[in-house]
Amino acid sequence: MIDLLPERQPQVVRKTEGAPTADMACGKASAAGSVSQRACVFCGSRVVLYPISDALHIVHGPIGCAAYTWDIRGALSSGPQLHRNSFSTDLQEMDVIFGGEKKLEAALLELIAHYKPQAAFIYSTCIVGLIGDDVSAVCRRVAEKTGIPVLPVHSEGFKGTKKDGYRAACEAVYQLIGTGDTTGIGTHSINILGEFNLAGETWILRDYYKRLGIEVVACITGDSRIADIRRCHGAKLNLVQCSGSMTHLAKMMERDHGIPFKRVSYFGIEDMSAALYDAAKFFGDDPAIMLRAQQLVREEITAIYPELQRYKQKLVGRRAAIYVGGAFKAFSLVRALRLLGMETAVVGSQTGDMEDYRQLQEISDPGTIIVDDSNPLELAEFCLEKDVDLFIGGVKERPIAYKLGIGFCDHNHERKEPLAGFVGMLNFAREVYASVASPVWQFAPRRANRAKEASPV
Ligand code: SF4
Repeated sequence: MIDLLPERQPQVVRKTEGAPTADMACGKASAAGSVSQRACVFCGSRVVLYPISDALHIVHGPIGCAAYTWDIRGALSSGPQLHRNSFSTDLQEMDVIFGGEKKLEAALLELIAHYKPQAAFIYSTCIVGLIGDDVSAVCRRVAEKTGIPVLPVHSEGFKGTKKDGYRAACEAVYQLIGTGDTTGIGTHSINILGEFNLAGETWILRDYYKRLGIEVVACITGDSRIADIRRCHGAKLNLVQCSGSMTHLAKMMERDHGIPFKRVSYFGIEDMSAALYDAAKFFGDDPAIMLRAQQLVREEITAIYPELQRYKQKLVGRRAAIYVGGAFKAFSLVRALRLLGMETAVVGSQTGDMEDYRQLQEISDPGTIIVDDSNPLELAEFCLEKDVDLFIGGVKERPIAYKLGIGFCDHNHERKEPLAGFVGMLNFAREVYASVASPVWQFAPRRANRAKEASPV
């Protein structure tokens, strides 16, 4: 069993049969020297806002910050592609000494004149926090000169955790909400918050809601447009998928515009169905919506179930480790793996809160390791201890898995297959099977030894 740093011990729990759920330490700055898997505050803001595809996104800082987050999620757009650029003021030594405000203003005026965006987001990075540029003042001046919203994102990298970056993103985008005309928005209307259109997932979800007769006013921020965000306060319900990033925005909209919100997940059959039923129940004044939801769920499950069963036969008894950004996604993954006959042996997140971890302990099997804000060494040790067959994570977990000779499923930034919705569950099962059952693992030294031990001839 791994020796944890003493400061890290309260952030790791091993579920014991019959024991009450433990209160895990979480939501705090990463332990110094622990080499956390978390990204910085700036990165947190950037991943949330960047799919707004008709806005200019400019990183005020050294070029490295912009390169690090360039097209970081590959979020798709059905229209403008401006978001896929990574503009930067490329601050250099002289800017650090004399300040970068003039450079920022010149860059903004040139880019806005050239690209004609509907709005601009200006991200502050570590160095901007250190030299003290007044980014808000520059934004006000440029907004007056150009006539478009120019919004500062106060995301200095060092000033907290990735979750503070989510909050800064919510504060920035909130300045747009309530500034558009809501005429024509129906009584059965929603916004989807915290869905980023990776591999076209927003389009799948929009289609489901359309089939139910529910209007999606805005998806924030997958395939979103500034005009939709401006008028999204006309919707009657907010559905929050990535709760870690968007609950703050949902709460502000509830406070100021009276729009209630529900947490949902679009991953796995159970959670996808529940998300549709939750919306149908909310619009209970029209019972036809619930009937349509039941029909949709029936049709979609019937279409994928036989193939899911085939994968289950091959996967039953295999073990997985999960390490993702938000804990709500981890709940869905535990359930989705169970549906495939697999056991979750390790599960953790970067930004979960105490209630999330309590729930995670409740749904996990005895023996499961539950971890908050982990690091590569811990994750590698946990994977070896539990001898997992699969690691589900994001871009930073991939090398850990491959170096250990473990199958990997990207459930985060770089995937090209939609994993949300019913069709996404089938894609997920296919990907898990392809990764776990790949013959390549027999050539990984650790796996080769396991194969020999299993059949010593
Ligand atoms: S904002 Fe700071 S921590 Fe984040 S990428 Fe830039 S330099 Fe690194």
